[in-house]
Amino acid sequence: MNALRTLPKVDKCLTHPLFEGCNATLVMKIARAHIEELRQALIHKEIETFDEETLMREIKEAYDALFEPSLKPLINATGVILHTNMGRSLISKTLLERASNVICNYSNLEYNLELGSRGERYEHVSTHLKELLNVEDVLVVNNNASAVFLILNTFAKDQEVIVSRGELVEIGGSFRIPEVMKQSGAKLVEVGATNKTKITDYANAINENTVMLMKVHQSNFSIEGFSEDVAYENLKLLADQNNLLDYYDLGSGYVPKLPYNLGNREHSLSEILECSPSLISFSGDKLFGSVQAGIIAGRTDLIAKLKKNQLLRMLRVDKITLSLLEESIKAYLKEEYEQIPTLWLLFRSVEELSQRALMFQEKIGADYCEIIQSETYMGGGTLPNRRFPTIALHIKGKATTLEKKFRKAHVIGRIENEQFLLDFRTILPSVEEKLITIIETIIGKK
Ligand SMILES: *Cc1c(COP(=O)(O)O)cnc(C)c1O
Repeated sequence: MNALRTLPKVDKCLTHPLFEGCNATLVMKIARAHIEELRQALIHKEIETFDEETLMREIKEAYDALFEPSLKPLINATGVILHTNMGRSLISKTLLERASNVICNYSNLEYNLELGSRGERYEHVSTHLKELLNVEDVLVVNNNASAVFLILNTFAKDQEVIVSRGELVEIGGSFRIPEVMKQSGAKLVEVGATNKTKITDYANAINENTVMLMKVHQSNFSIEGFSEDVAYENLKLLADQNNLLDYYDLGSGYVPKLPYNLGNREHSLSEILECSPSLISFSGDKLFGSVQAGIIAGRTDLIAKLKKNQLLRMLRVDKITLSLLEESIKAYLKEEYEQIPTLWLLFRSVEELSQRALMFQEKIGADYCEIIQSETYMGGGTLPNRRFPTIALHIKGKATTLEKKFRKAHVIGRIENEQFLLDFRTILPSVEEKLITIIETIIGKK
């Protein structure tokens, strides 16, 4: 019973030097829980004594743990550039700096400087984006899922939208085209078969309730072999002939010609926009390589209607998104592709990656690692089944053990043929030094 009587009062922590400068309310809350736990342990005779200083240290550790950042930087050595689980596209420090001027200050986000009255938040990116895409008008929302929802809700509520059965895709678990359509109020009319849809399938399904022909990019899968789909320009032609809207959910959209022949099965934004679609939408943080956003482009009258939908208020983007997106678009206009990390990583040549791997091997020693040629893919639900060359460092040893050790050091690699690999396609030059130290520590050279 003695020990029970000596349990400190909660306020005692507040005067303890360990807690100087700490948030008193938080300290009290944590202390209360710890002391209560100790009391129960003493009552139930799980322990007989306790040390007050140890208790104080434990409370302080619990307090400090609260302030550990939950989001931590990782070294992505998987080789997958648009890694959905690791934050998709990266923002360059230069662009972040350029945008920070706006983010950290008051701005004309919704203020018209010429008139001295309320302005429009969407004006800011629209000038540059229209220039880049060469379209009538644009609108930016929270993400591409929002864009799809907003478009369907605005133009197709209680009416019919025709989509090919080969394009009723699911993206990352919770986003399924049929479900999104249902939620938006649009009625889905499926046509064709999983592997084949013809223009006549669309034509035969058109009736007086039809408002839109929609094409959805397959994004994360591809059908090989006996398959056929309708090119967007033909779909658009059919829509025009029947006075219907055409809409292409691109998923991802890209601007410059892609290396490694990756563009031969995927049209660039400018190629798609050549046929003047009524509306398209794509993600800001897939191949476009900017912030999370949904970019909608198309006819002025349609964009104006989207802006009138009350839903837009719920899907609207913040100044952080708008200013970073504006900087990315300006980088595109200036062809500063090195400021779009997604593209920068994709465009690195195999020779360049080899040289960096060689530098690693020289530092670490050939006894511990070897350079291997391999293949990787883009990820993020883009360029499905398209592999391109890469260079990786095979760290010798048991792959599963190494994978765990590196993961603990916040380095995510990949296992291929039972070998643990660090893929240079996604290793940023800025983390090279840190990575070398981590490798040396894990293999026991340091
Ligand atoms: C990725 C994707 C979406 C969802 O885009 P988010 O920006 O992740 O919301 C919608 N449609 C298609 C075809 C996609 O590939």
